[in-house]
Amino acid sequence: MYYALYLITLLSKYMAKEIYQNNAPHTLNNDLFHEIGISSARCYQCGKCSAGCPMAEDMNYTPNTVMRIIQAEDRQMDLELLSSESIWLCASCEMCISRCPMQIDIPKIMDYLRQKSLQERLQDKAANKSIIPFHQSFLDMIRYTGRSYEVGLVLDFKLRSKKIMQDVDLVPKMLSHGKLPFLPDGIKGKKNIQAIFKRTLRKK
Ligand code: SF4
Ligand code: SF4
Repeated sequence: MYYALYLITLLSKYMAKEIYQNNAPHTLNNDLFHEIGISSARCYQCGKCSAGCPMAEDMNYTPNTVMRIIQAEDRQMDLELLSSESIWLCASCEMCISRCPMQIDIPKIMDYLRQKSLQERLQDKAANKSIIPFHQSFLDMIRYTGRSYEVGLVLDFKLRSKKIMQDVDLVPKMLSHGKLPFLPDGIKGKKNIQAIFKRTLRKK
């Protein structure tokens, strides 16, 4: 009985996904709902998220504007959002979600938008010079070592951003203070972390 119910649930989920993939227009609003389960309709534009966001001053699209654009379901506006620097300025500090009366997970949405922007090759040119190389170096460091490893991160970032000589004068001081360990510390669940990356990349 339980097995049959489980199969029916699986089948209906699969069919819902197929129907969505074949029929629904690919607006950010639809993709967001079907891929990470967040409904933008819950946002009622109170603006509390933007009022508390430490990066809002530097963003063209503040967190509540991001929500409004997603709600609008306009392909041109979606493309502008995915090409904007704003999505790369979010520091994932979670201030917005802690203030949101509807508990809308904006950091998760920003993460989703960044991945989507890379996938569709729409990334902002300014962010491309430093924020995106750092984003990719950081993700790779977590994927391969399971935790923060400063030397690997710095070297990888310098190669990607082509800023080889920037801040090299700080290296001796950091070494003398033991801030740059040569080898990464291991963690127990490294294989689990790598499996999460594999699963996520397969979903793209
Ligand atoms: S705080 Fe929440 S409900 Fe208010 S504008 Fe921001 S996302 Fe929308
Ligand atoms: S998580 Fe991002 S959008 Fe939210 S308050 Fe922090 S910087 Fe702003």
